Amino acid sequence: MTKKLRIATLGIHHETNTFASNPTTMDSFKVSGMQTYAVQRGQQYYDMHELSSTSMAGFIQASNRLDFELVPLIFAATDPGGTISKEVFDTLGGEAFEMLRDQGPFDGVLLNQMGAAVSEEYPDMDGELARRVREIVGPNVPVAMTLDLHANVSQQMADETDALVIYKTNPHTDAVPRAHDACDLVVRMARENWRPAVWLEQPPMVVGIFQHDTRDMPMKAVIDDLETVLAQPGVVGGSIGEGYPWSDVHENGLACYVLHEDSVDEAKKAARWIADRAWANRKELYEPVGPTPSEAVEYALKEAAARPDESGPIVLLDVGDNIGAGSSGDSTFLLAEGVKQGAASWLQTVRDSEAIEACLAAGIGATVTIEVGGKTDSLHGSPVSLTGRITRISDGRFEDTGTVHAGWRFFDGGTTVVIESQEGPTVALVTTRVGNMSREQFYSLGYRPDDFDIVVAKGVVSPRPAYQPIAHEMVTVNTPGATSADMSSFDYKRVRDSLYPLDLEAKYEHG
Ligand SMILES: [Zn+2]
Repeated sequence: MTKKLRIATLGIHHETNTFASNPTTMDSFKVSGMQTYAVQRGQQYYDMHELSSTSMAGFIQASNRLDFELVPLIFAATDPGGTISKEVFDTLGGEAFEMLRDQGPFDGVLLNQMGAAVSEEYPDMDGELARRVREIVGPNVPVAMTLDLHANVSQQMADETDALVIYKTNPHTDAVPRAHDACDLVVRMARENWRPAVWLEQPPMVVGIFQHDTRDMPMKAVIDDLETVLAQPGVVGGSIGEGYPWSDVHENGLACYVLHEDSVDEAKKAARWIADRAWANRKELYEPVGPTPSEAVEYALKEAAARPDESGPIVLLDVGDNIGAGSSGDSTFLLAEGVKQGAASWLQTVRDSEAIEACLAAGIGATVTIEVGGKTDSLHGSPVSLTGRITRISDGRFEDTGTVHAGWRFFDGGTTVVIESQEGPTVALVTTRVGNMSREQFYSLGYRPDDFDIVVAKGVVSPRPAYQPIAHEMVTVNTPGATSADMSSFDYKRVRDSLYPLDLEAKYEHG
């Protein structure tokens, strides 16, 4: 009988928006909107994911299917935000590396990363983490890293691991099957003393956020090409990194990655075939188009008045305040426009601890006049004055057992207060940067987004699994903010010298 494999898993999972004004510190890891415990150790890391649909849930399922012992070390994940402090990497990374050293030896390692982590010290924090792990376990232990589709994949990440496995869907609904793929590879490597041949190809181009949904053209074509490659004989794996635009790092952009049974040349050929075709389509893959806030609200009001009864809300996607991409969650461009144009049936969240304090002091049922949102920085509009009745006070926790972007389940909005304003909008004031990825966020407060004319969701793709089923229409709005769709509004310093669309004449050449 073969010995049961012991495979460790750890992760420091973060999407870092280097243009966001809120740095990611140890305090940021005290609470996360995406999961009840931002830092999970040992059994807790196991327990918090077993019933979810995250990568870790996939690792757990695969450990049963493939009969290996999964050793959960530590998983730290908090909401996307600004650059990670050195202290975070030293503290959480330090703890992870110590656990890996102390609890080994292991037959394999599964790194549960997001893939766009940037720390003060390491612009490629995921690559640095892989390098440290490799240093500890040595060259002979297979290491695989699972990644979010928004990863900015670096050569270091490819070099310091044996396999990268990235989600193929956006909205992200395949974390579990992709985690199974990663486990299949690691187990095979450990059992057969085999390693795949690897090629990472990075055409110098960025996929625009408006084009990130993998169900729609033109991004669907890139994923279709990946599927074509995956069906080729000899190809044992492959991924696309869609990239994360708001990160000032060298590897910002599209990545095409292929694993072959034994031939680097074949892996290279396949990866370049995908890259060439995406490059030829680069103009279609970057188009920051969409209505302005004023146009979108005007359209939504007209559309809401004309639509049949009970056909659901018009959902306005606030691109510039994409919480799931690290924005502040307190943008007011749409809210101000809603008030200005007299939107009477309107529902949204705004992150604002100060307004919450004022409401808590007034108490439930009281009528208050407060300045809402626009307080984090100068990127997200001015505070909006609202007068309204406080109808709910909640601890902000909610659970979603349905299909959620990236498979999260236990959310935490922190102290939450709802006010129904005389100006029209109903606003849930939240404490954490909890994303608008789940309708339970409102159901748990006693509000049905289904019944409103207009709902604002701060994000581009992550709110879609929640809101598409009930929406009359989803409108992607070209709002300003820390996650603006327009790359030229940011000052990039570390990206490649010639990167499309920052350089419209960028060239992509290979032998
Ligand atoms: Zn993502």
